[in-house]
Amino acid sequence: MNLSAPDERAAGGAIQTEVVIVGAGPCGLFQVFELGLLGINAHIVDSLATAGGQCTELYPDKPIYDIPALPVCGAQELVDRLLQQVKPFAPTFHLGQEVTELAKRPDGRFTLVTAAGTRFDAGAVVIAAGLGSFQPRRIGLEGSDAFEGTRIHYRVRNARELHGQRLVIFGGGDSALDWTLELAPNARSLTLVHRRAEFRAAPPSVAKMRELVAAGRMRYIEGLADGLLTDNGTLTGVRVKGKDGTAHQLEADQLLAFFGLHPKLGPIAEWGLALEKKALKVDTEKFQTSIPGVFAVGDVRYGAVRRVANSVGEGSIVLYFVHQYLANR
Ligand code: FAD
Repeated sequence: MNLSAPDERAAGGAIQTEVVIVGAGPCGLFQVFELGLLGINAHIVDSLATAGGQCTELYPDKPIYDIPALPVCGAQELVDRLLQQVKPFAPTFHLGQEVTELAKRPDGRFTLVTAAGTRFDAGAVVIAAGLGSFQPRRIGLEGSDAFEGTRIHYRVRNARELHGQRLVIFGGGDSALDWTLELAPNARSLTLVHRRAEFRAAPPSVAKMRELVAAGRMRYIEGLADGLLTDNGTLTGVRVKGKDGTAHQLEADQLLAFFGLHPKLGPIAEWGLALEKKALKVDTEKFQTSIPGVFAVGDVRYGAVRRVANSVGEGSIVLYFVHQYLANR
């Protein structure tokens, strides 16, 4: 499988391809397979760092019982199987890149641009964007916008940059606990703050965190972020209100918040495609949107039955109309 291989680039730097698939959830992944069967090559783009959409992001360990011929299958297992299934067609994945622009050109082809600056020149487009791009839930404290990306982070891009710093981590899921365990050995200080006694994270991670607390290597506070501490426009820490009512003033260089992700239709709503109730309107014969050559399948289309089997089934239908569109241009 290719990961952003610098292939098929025309003059001007755009990647030329027959089809771009927006979204690497189950629907986008199966679409790659379906197109591959007809010898149509595709590039697949997702704003998340890994393929799998809702299955990987929201419920990787949950069993799924309604996939034909698989009496039970874990959600992540399903994604792993789909990735295995597309391997023979060697699609190129562009992960961690939101598609921000889509425009139809006078020659009938499409220009797509991602937030990372990757450009595509595509013959047709299949939007399999589910409920939209997953966005981090933000900390939402007064003045916090100004520090996002520099002092307040929702993902860790480079763990080494956090070494030797005073860190406060918020959250009780796997991301919060994994980063706590990863960063604690090299941090100048680290405090984990979580709003309740129960954690969503894997129990062994929680147990390890408690061992570090008992050994005096980090602090844990059950409570909520209450306000930022600043000095002359510089972030110096965070106020935390403990569940027991205690007010804590924590000195910090960096705050990391892992409150989960929520999906947002985002830039897709700006591409001039007809919408109904924040979903893409399609004709349900071809699954074509209001712009010929742009198709939409799965949860992103208005009226979708939001189940994996339905989503991937639409990929089998749309395949023939994508082929027809490419052939008749
Ligand atoms: P998604 O899985 O949402 O994938 C869409 C992808 O598109 C995402 O990865 C997103 O990041 C990406 N994307 C969006 N916008 C952009 C953009 N502009 N640029 C780049 N990438 C973008 N279904 C079942 O059949 N059985 C079940 O048991 C079941 N259980 C579920 C349990 C839960 C808790 C939830 C939330 C859903 C469940 N579902 C279940 C529903 C199922 O997960 C969805 O129907 C399925 O994931 C839809 O697939 P999709 O590919 O259309 O969309």
